[in-house]
Amino acid sequence: MKTAEKKHKVIINSKWCKGCGICIAFCPKAVLGEGDAGKAVVIDPEACTGCRLCELRCPDFAIVLDEGETDE
Ligand code: SF4
Ligand code: SF4
Repeated sequence: MKTAEKKHKVIINSKWCKGCGICIAFCPKAVLGEGDAGKAVVIDPEACTGCRLCELRCPDFAIVLDEGETDE
């Protein structure tokens, strides 16, 4: 049985991001990439599995996962 698909939304607070690249290196799905000044940006939101590695690894708490319970 399949449960309703959950949408995982990665929210990056670019004010807090210092561009260390840890989240980019740790994301197993290559959801994150480098933007301006090396700051993290979401490049492939659909690929996110919601594993929260990026959220856990960010030393500056600049990433949070929004677990919206939308089943469209
Ligand atoms: S781990 Fe945090 S501070 Fe480092 S690039 Fe990612 S969002 Fe920015
Ligand atoms: S939650 Fe996991 S898959 Fe999604 S962006 Fe973060 S590290 Fe990548």
